[in-house]
Amino acid sequence: MEADQQTQEIRNSVRKICSEFGEDYWRELDRNSGYPTDFVKEITQTGFLGCLIPESYGGAGLGLVEACAILEEISRSGGHPGAAHAQMYVMGSVLRHGTEEQKQRYLPAVAAGELRLQSFGVTEPSTGTDTTSLKTTAQKEGDRYIVNGQKVWISRVQHSDLMVLLARTKPIEKRTSKTDGLSCFIVDLRGAEERGLTIKPIDAMINHHSCELFFDNFQIPAENLLGEEHKGFKAILDGMNAERILIGSECIGDARYFIDKASAYAKERIVFGRPIGQNQGISFPIANAYAQTEAAALMVDKAARLFDTGTPCGAEANMAKMLAADASWKAGDICLQTHGGFGISREYHIERKLRETRLYQIAPISTNLILSYISEHVLGMPRSF
Ligand SMILES: Cc1cc2nc3c(=O)[nH]c(=O)nc-3n(C[C@H](O)[C@H](O)[C@H](O)COP(=O)(O)OP(=O)(O)OC[C@H]3O[C@@H](n4cnc5c(N)ncnc54)[C@H](O)[C@@H]3O)c2cc1C
Repeated sequence: MEADQQTQEIRNSVRKICSEFGEDYWRELDRNSGYPTDFVKEITQTGFLGCLIPESYGGAGLGLVEACAILEEISRSGGHPGAAHAQMYVMGSVLRHGTEEQKQRYLPAVAAGELRLQSFGVTEPSTGTDTTSLKTTAQKEGDRYIVNGQKVWISRVQHSDLMVLLARTKPIEKRTSKTDGLSCFIVDLRGAEERGLTIKPIDAMINHHSCELFFDNFQIPAENLLGEEHKGFKAILDGMNAERILIGSECIGDARYFIDKASAYAKERIVFGRPIGQNQGISFPIANAYAQTEAAALMVDKAARLFDTGTPCGAEANMAKMLAADASWKAGDICLQTHGGFGISREYHIERKLRETRLYQIAPISTNLILSYISEHVLGMPRSF
């Protein structure tokens, strides 16, 4: 089957699933801080969540282009892929840096939906974006590592069986480079709260199930080290490019959702005896958001294709995420404006989607840090920090 035809068929199937989980489903979850268990189960069982896992480990063996199509369709339907997307990019770290034993142990079970690999523990309260300065320590003692420290904003920990954790295994004063001395671990979250992990949900603007984590002499078996000791930053780095591209595709889905809604409403809402879309003050901003979204979508697609062929794509992944996040935020603002007062009403779903898409100016990496990357790594200007 032609690749484009296959992607279109994937889109059609995802749309069909999403049609069973309408916007009211997501609004109720948002209202009650609920987790979309049934939806996640459905996209796991149909193989979409494990699409990036190779067939030899029980997955569909697809690429990032197809994964992007899946997330975009979920967003475009009015849903929120944030409830599940981490499994796609966290899995990549296990696939690329795990031992054969780790891959055999986890990936088939993740693909089958028996294990949930939904959580990624990097950010800390006192270091934030400055990841390589993180302070959580993992000290080796015999056949285990003892973890002490704190993480913040770690999403879905309460809805995941496994988490990939980044911690310091070498004192910061002994590191030989900024990224030296950090290691990655596969943490089994089942029963972890009885073993020294305290989890505190954060009351937040969006329903993202993010938590504070406190590690108090928490033990991880040494065999759960992911990749080489002290070189864990590398193990998460290529996962970060995948994450940025996938988030970019979610933003494209959000932007298209907003543009669909805004243009439909502009055609049907009659004020002063004519459709509001007849006023160019209404139609031009929507048309402009459409053009910007289509341009951003090209960059997301370019980045995904580079990633799938193993070509370096740091610049494209960053630009894709930034352009798509800007497009969705702008489209959301225009969609709300087009709806006038009704845009504020929860019944119209726009305010929820606008809150959700706002996150992507900040996470997983903020716009400033992307501009900083382009300034330094693409344009060769001096590093600012
Ligand atoms: C809902 C949500 C879910 C999240 N989920 C996860 C998760 O699952 N796992 C995880 O590890 N993390 C997660 N995060 C954390 C997220 O990755 C961080 O919030 C993000 O990287 C920004 O870090 P910070 O919040 O510490 O901001 P800070 O680093 O404190 O930055 C604050 C502001 O200052 C700006 N800034 C900082 N330094 C510079 C500079 N040198 N130049 C210019 N501007 C600068 C930033 O752009 C930002 O706007 C999540 C966050 C949120 C809000």
